Amino acid sequence: MALTQKTPLKRKKALARRKKVRRPKSALAKRKANKNSVYWRAKADSLWSQVVRRKNNGRCLYCGEPARDAHHLISRAVKAFRHSLMNGVPLCYQHHRGNARASAHGGPLAFAEWLRTTLPDIWAWVQANKHKLGQHDYQAACERLQGILDGAEAPSGE
Ligand SMILES: [Zn+2]
Repeated sequence: MALTQKTPLKRKKALARRKKVRRPKSALAKRKANKNSVYWRAKADSLWSQVVRRKNNGRCLYCGEPARDAHHLISRAVKAFRHSLMNGVPLCYQHHRGNARASAHGGPLAFAEWLRTTLPDIWAWVQANKHKLGQHDYQAACERLQGILDGAEAPSGE
């Protein structure tokens, strides 16, 4: 064995040292560092759903049954309103997607007509905002929604 050649143990230690120095940020750390990453979006989605399902005393806005779902009135593809509380209504499964005649996803036209006639204020808000673009910050949304869940604010408004 030549003198310059490292023993397996030394080689192992040298590799470990090199790894330590070069170790990149973990995928999770990278996601946490970006306020609009999938990490913060998923977290905000979950918090938003929890807060919205508490509105209306946890009852479906349509029929009054326990609300299992939280529905986005303006599509959640519109990022500026994805975590807005104005944009969320608590619904039971039937009125969210189960019922083919009158549910938000199963019978959207009938659902829209119900919303327009029953809850004109919410309808007007949707009409005024559905094409609006705006800033969004998923990490800030998480903090705001967590504050509501922790009881710092009442679940109403934005
Ligand atoms: Zn219902």
